[in-house]
Amino acid sequence: MTYTSNTTGSYRTFVSHLECSYTAKHYPAGVVHNLSEAGYPLLVRYDLDALAEHLQPDQLRSRASDLWRYREFLPVTRAENIVSLGEITTPLIQLTGVRGLSAASSLLVKDEGRLPTGSFKARGITAAISMAKELGITRVAMPTNGNAGAALSAYATRAGMQSFVFCPADTPEVNIAETALQGAKVFRVNGLINDCGRLVGEGKATAGWFDVSTLKEPYRIEGKKTMGLELAEQLGWRVPDVIFYPTGGGTGLIGMWKAFDELERIGWIGPKRPRMVAVQAEGCAPIVRAFEQDSEHAELWQNAHTVAAGIRVPAAIGDFLILRAVRESGGFAMAVSDDAIDAARAEVAESDGLLLCPEGAATFAAYRKALDQDLVDGGDEVVLFNCATGLKYPMPAAGKSLDRHAPIDYRAITER
Ligand SMILES: *Cc1c(COP(=O)(O)O)cnc(C)c1O
Repeated sequence: MTYTSNTTGSYRTFVSHLECSYTAKHYPAGVVHNLSEAGYPLLVRYDLDALAEHLQPDQLRSRASDLWRYREFLPVTRAENIVSLGEITTPLIQLTGVRGLSAASSLLVKDEGRLPTGSFKARGITAAISMAKELGITRVAMPTNGNAGAALSAYATRAGMQSFVFCPADTPEVNIAETALQGAKVFRVNGLINDCGRLVGEGKATAGWFDVSTLKEPYRIEGKKTMGLELAEQLGWRVPDVIFYPTGGGTGLIGMWKAFDELERIGWIGPKRPRMVAVQAEGCAPIVRAFEQDSEHAELWQNAHTVAAGIRVPAAIGDFLILRAVRESGGFAMAVSDDAIDAARAEVAESDGLLLCPEGAATFAAYRKALDQDLVDGGDEVVLFNCATGLKYPMPAAGKSLDRHAPIDYRAITER
């Protein structure tokens, strides 16, 4: 497989228009957009009847095992605009070693850490940058907690664009370094991601940046939507009982919800939906609070803090879309403590050999808590999302020293 692009020339695409996610007002495709006039995210709409007529699930079998196999569900119209670094299909890994699982349980981790730049931010950014290229954009900017900025930097460079990335000063060091090395100009800001977002909004007119913030342009969500398409395909065109999703801006959760809707409309899956569970950290849980208070929108979370940097998002512009999907699905929102996240990360690593990122570990901690509270059943088929490689995050110090000049008691070190 070569990753210049896996298709050539133009192919049939099905975008009909864009639609304000709040007011349902229509906007034309093929021109540059950020938010709707009402200030809400725009969603891409497709001619699904035509898509259903054009494409059968069997036709996907002969295609490369990557995100662009779903090109008819995506907005890019010409293959040469696809900016790819090899967005492979990510595996579903069954957890079998962790304690207390019932024999009937099916607990699967969708390991998104295998994607380019080590996180599922690559899905959204490959779509957004490909569309930016198609629309003639040359300079992009975004606020980030780390992983999105790294992906933006990589894909922008690949597309020959300049990129500008603003992150909280305490963003994991590796994210800042990889972002810089891949070509972006990266700035540490003494604030949180929403403060960084404000700087992008303030500077974009003067600096000529296109704002690629989560849900402030219409295409990142289309890339993230492929998680739902891929999951359904991996399960044989059906959905699991429950999905636990580490929720920051919520693009992935909203995107999967959109994917399941589109799949049902073209008849590839039935009306069953997974219960969608939005997982947050106790130190930053605006969606959980809004869910519990029955609110349509979430209020800004003050003094946000958590080890799970990717979900430290005090305010999400798509809050109402997250809450809508969670409620319509019969799911719930749940916060877990940083201690529970650390313990969950250690447990899955030690018992199943799978190193989760803290955000992914949060979903396992939430699964345990939900089992205890009878919110899920031991026999449910559950998918946890691990959205980045665990290798990007700090780990506890480990390793004992050996003096190769002194006698070594090999039996003792083996039994210890
Ligand atoms: C960005 C990120 C999330 C949150 O994703 P959203 O779809 O924006 O809610 C979760 N985990 C990791 C590792 C991330 O980088």
